[in-house]
Amino acid sequence: RKSKLPSVTESIFTTMSALSNKHGAVNLSQGFPNFPVDPALKELIIKAIHDDKNQYAPMAGLMSLRAAISKMTQQQHRAFYHPENEICLTAGATQGIFTAIQAVIHSGDEVIIFTPAYDCYAPAIELAGGKVVEISMKLPEFTIDWQEVKDKLTSVTKMIMINSPHNPSGDMLTHEDMTKLQDIVVENNLLLLSDEVYEHIAFDGREHLSAARYEGLWERSLITGSFGKTFHVTGWKMGYCLAPKHLMEEFYKVHQYVVYCVNHPVQDAIANYLSKPERYTELGIFYQKKRDLFLNLIKDSRFKFKPAHGSYFQLLDYSKITDENDVDFARRLTIEHKIASIPISVFMNGKDPNMLRFCFAKKEEEIIKAAKILNSL
Ligand code: PMP
Ligand code: GLN
Repeated sequence: RKSKLPSVTESIFTTMSALSNKHGAVNLSQGFPNFPVDPALKELIIKAIHDDKNQYAPMAGLMSLRAAISKMTQQQHRAFYHPENEICLTAGATQGIFTAIQAVIHSGDEVIIFTPAYDCYAPAIELAGGKVVEISMKLPEFTIDWQEVKDKLTSVTKMIMINSPHNPSGDMLTHEDMTKLQDIVVENNLLLLSDEVYEHIAFDGREHLSAARYEGLWERSLITGSFGKTFHVTGWKMGYCLAPKHLMEEFYKVHQYVVYCVNHPVQDAIANYLSKPERYTELGIFYQKKRDLFLNLIKDSRFKFKPAHGSYFQLLDYSKITDENDVDFARRLTIEHKIASIPISVFMNGKDPNMLRFCFAKKEEEIIKAAKILNSL
């Protein structure tokens, strides 16, 4: 029987984490924090379970959580989404992205994505019958050539997808990028899917510029977020989608039959936890310390780097060390040197800029251990 996704294989995150575990390596590959979760958040979920919040939640999510997300978005992005009909809780941003694409992409529609792109985008577009149009970011700065985007538009282009702060480069779109994007989206009557899972992780005083801030984008965008990233609970798989009512209506139709609703006690815990804004407003400072620790420790190594502007990933250019391709080098580093990373060529159709991605959402001692190994190469 013919596969619906013939080019899909095991995800690189599964592969590298398994290889890392097998060889007892320091695992800076898959993006997840390895430090304990705030005890206050643990208490809140235990309380939710004890209070018997254990049955189905409302289809779009608990109203208390939708209201808290609406407030957070107003504070952070100066944009309003109505809790009643413009917000939906999802099983991680992954389900939000999948559902958003299923809700608006018809067979034959083209969707522009920028590579390196997070791995769940292309399969979701293909399953909806859409066509993936890839545009390579310009290296070494991972910027987007907006003229090239204009040149790639056709009569069936339906949507553009962006991701800022960007996984894997750690780069962020600027105000100039966002206004050029807005012009293209508005002039050509397109939709935007903006993956903002690292929205609270921006460094060196930079501000994350959500699509929600731009009027022309607001009314044409579906935006995805992830509490897995914001509250260090990737295993809770809790995310959300924001969109104006006319798009959210379509999103709800799909969500209703993909999952109906998502985890009730987790939603209750997060709704209460969101009552203190510093729990997300200080996330950038928290991760900047980890980035700085990591980069200070390896500044005299043979790796070259540009400090990440946001997200919890740092790319390291290894071209002074070896001419191996990134997949081979990442494997060898894991097996022989006991440090696991992610080769980024897998997100860019095999194009290999000789860079590996390292996740610094780790305990200090793990970062120090990793740096020691990297300095020895
Ligand atoms: N988008 C990007 C860019 C990501 O890095 C991730 C996960 N690391 C996701 C989406 C998925 O988020 P979640 O774990 O909430 O499904
Ligand atoms: N998003 C995480 C990363 O970029 C991985 C999540 C997953 O394994 N699907 O590393």
